[in-house]
Amino acid sequence: MKVKVAVCGYGTIGKRVADAVSCQKDMEVVGVAKTKPDFEAKMAVRKGYKLYAAIPERAELFEKAGLPVEGTLEDMIQKADVVTDCSPGKVGAQNKATYYEKAGVKAIFQGGEKKDVAEVSFNALANYDKAIGKSYVRVVSCNTTGLTRLLYVIKQNFGIKKVRATLIRRVVDPKEDKKGLVNGIMPNPIALPSHHGPDVQTVLDVDITTVAFKVPTTLMHVHALNVELEKQAKPEDVVEALKSEPRIMLVSSGDGFTSTAKIIEYARELRTRYDLFENVVWEDSIAVVDNELYLTQAIHQEAIVIPENIDVIRAMFDMASKEESMKITNESLGIGKYQL
Ligand code: NAD
Repeated sequence: MKVKVAVCGYGTIGKRVADAVSCQKDMEVVGVAKTKPDFEAKMAVRKGYKLYAAIPERAELFEKAGLPVEGTLEDMIQKADVVTDCSPGKVGAQNKATYYEKAGVKAIFQGGEKKDVAEVSFNALANYDKAIGKSYVRVVSCNTTGLTRLLYVIKQNFGIKKVRATLIRRVVDPKEDKKGLVNGIMPNPIALPSHHGPDVQTVLDVDITTVAFKVPTTLMHVHALNVELEKQAKPEDVVEALKSEPRIMLVSSGDGFTSTAKIIEYARELRTRYDLFENVVWEDSIAVVDNELYLTQAIHQEAIVIPENIDVIRAMFDMASKEESMKITNESLGIGKYQL
């Protein structure tokens, strides 16, 4: 039997979640909920997803635009075993209080929600088992997912005394045309720490402090990390450990990867929507000085949380072990195939 998944909020993350669920043999999309009948709603219908009005009073707008709606968000929830909420930050918490709790349906939230929206925050590598059988789980944000995956592998192999990370963040997603930093570099926040370190600690036990800056680009985030290791390690040991994890891809400047623009150009050859589900680590950035590891990675914000949004469903319904679920998800999304 397939788990019935409803997707509430069909934007940057929601449409990717719906497509990723559709690639799995053990789950299916029963509907997607949108607030307005825009091009994304039209694409959803063209792809065969059943469309529901996220705000009941707006159902009429969809009909007027010639888009058939099956009903409201409440109707969609009735058909679902779990709702993956991909609405904008903080709307998920409102939806939980208004709809999900009342209907007694399980729900998955995204990183824009506060951690207390859910019983547990989730990253497949770091704490898959904590989500087993749970009703409400939050998949941590793109930056937190990127940091956590990398640090989990480092911690397992070498132990970690402390982490200091600088995050250079794309200011907005590519589709945003109403907001964005045009000229400047914005310390965000100005005072230490950025929220990313504490957010990593919701899924991984590690001493970490982060600072973050927004820069005028839309393609990817970049993280520069310093990690004080517990065990002695050489750069080649770190490369070997990172290469053993399919959700981490190593690239090098020797292959022409001189910036995030080149990484995205590579991704354009690989995947629909140039989605990079993997952390992308520059192999030639890996250095160890006085047992402190230095490395730089790039994170495709729109795609990195998608595999976790699939694994979390298997954990919540206790359908597979961590290793089984990650393997199925990786195979279905082509993760680990494109290491050069
Ligand atoms: P988005 O703005 O691209 O999409 C949100 C969608 O929700 C839109 O289709 C919008 O119309 C719809 N919506 C608005 N109000 C709604 C409501 N009341 N009920 C249902 N749907 C509603 O946003 P996004 O970038 O996909 O972000 C969604 C969540 O994912 C946020 O928590 C965000 O922090 C998190 N996230 C985003 C990224 C990213 O890079 N975009 C990465 C990781 C996590």
